[in-house]
Amino acid sequence: MHEECGIVGVSFKEETSAALSIYYALFALQHRGQESAGITVHDGSQVRTLKGMGLVPDVFNKADIQKLKGHVGIGHVRYSTTGSSKIENCQPLLVSFKSGTIAIAHNGNLVNSKELRTELEKEGRIFLSESDTEVIAHLLVKELMHSELKDAVKDVIKQLVGSYSLAILIDKTVIVIRDPLGIKPLCFGSLDNGYVVASESVAIDILNGQLIRDVAPGEMLVFNNGTYESHQLVKSKNTAHCVFEYIYFARPDSVIDGQLVYNVRMRIGEMLFKEHPAIADIVSPVPDSGITYAIGFSKKSGIDYMEGLMKNRYIGRTFIMPGQDMRETAVRLKLNTIKPNIEGKSIVLIDDSIVRGTTSRRIIDMVRKSGTREIHMRVASPPIISPCYLGIDMATREELIAAHKTVKGVEALINADSLGYLSIDGLVESIGIPMDDLCLGCLSGIYPVEIPGEKCIKRQLKLSEF
Ligand code: AMP
Repeated sequence: MHEECGIVGVSFKEETSAALSIYYALFALQHRGQESAGITVHDGSQVRTLKGMGLVPDVFNKADIQKLKGHVGIGHVRYSTTGSSKIENCQPLLVSFKSGTIAIAHNGNLVNSKELRTELEKEGRIFLSESDTEVIAHLLVKELMHSELKDAVKDVIKQLVGSYSLAILIDKTVIVIRDPLGIKPLCFGSLDNGYVVASESVAIDILNGQLIRDVAPGEMLVFNNGTYESHQLVKSKNTAHCVFEYIYFARPDSVIDGQLVYNVRMRIGEMLFKEHPAIADIVSPVPDSGITYAIGFSKKSGIDYMEGLMKNRYIGRTFIMPGQDMRETAVRLKLNTIKPNIEGKSIVLIDDSIVRGTTSRRIIDMVRKSGTREIHMRVASPPIISPCYLGIDMATREELIAAHKTVKGVEALINADSLGYLSIDGLVESIGIPMDDLCLGCLSGIYPVEIPGEKCIKRQLKLSEF
């Protein structure tokens, strides 16, 4: 199971170090990707990049940040959704071309990158990585050869199908673009001395900045010398914001498309009680992702909130020696029960989602071994029945437990006394954004862009509609 990416862009007026702010912002976005991290800065004459595998503090030390001189820059944390885990796929991706250097940080997944890549290869272009981002870089360089920035970007996005929030550094200009359906989050804020753009507003908070607003779907912002310009390059009738950001990915303290994730999760918790009430002694979350939901469920039901499981937040990439109980050891390293809180009790156990079903099964086994009397599992997402093609590394259709089993079937498999999933309507109401403006692909099997072999409701604009 992988997580997606986080991006940041910073543009200061003066010789304030952009690298330090980007470094702090990447810390705030670490939950969006732990595979690699990178920063590219520009000081007006020279571009500097440092990237590497691992967590933000593993990749950068104090001396590195001091060497990254420049008042503008971009950053990226990655967990691969396309391309394998290796240094070539670390971002920002840097390319040099006739008129300068371009660095790109990308969050999202293109559905048509293979076709675009094949076309570019036919023209003799060479690729060094497996990422979609390199496709975008080639297209942008190609368009910039004969067009001004705005037209070049417009011509590039006409060709892209899928999700993309992009932070691009062209010499000392920072450009950000959000795909026309706004699938991935992207927001921007003001700092004392400039501006910051980031996947989530927590990155703005950490810099003591002020959230201005979300970048609009189809909008390009260009930051230069302490000012910015907005260009609405394309306007779709509807958006398709990813619901999984609210369910799992984003931090609860982030505001995405006008909704504080914490509030959405509280409402989901309350909705879960409304849709699937239970009689129990306590409500307990699977930490950390289940916590806010459990608080909402407890508030609505009046059932006491009590932690039955504790998470070790420092396990990172701990290795586990192969052996019979390897899997159980893996769960025990991460989670432990607080036995007296659950022994002999009937509990409502709340988690954000069930994907393959293996995690829930192991957690329920562990909770049962601590003497719990009854376990009523409540899940903050509707059943996940279809894969995500738009940047969330979920699982294949074969692996998705709810794609093959009924709720009763999943209940038996995970060994719960009862199981209740949130409904799609309940989710939409809790998010507070109309259904037509959300991507529910993984829950409905109907996608907002054309994907071969899948159903599609609304399409990204066709070339002729731009
Ligand atoms: P499983 O059902 O065993 O596949 O695991 C589901 C659990 O993994 C959920 O409870 C989430 O907390 C977590 N999860 C869900 N989606 C993802 C994802 N795309 N990447 C990483 N973890 C995830």
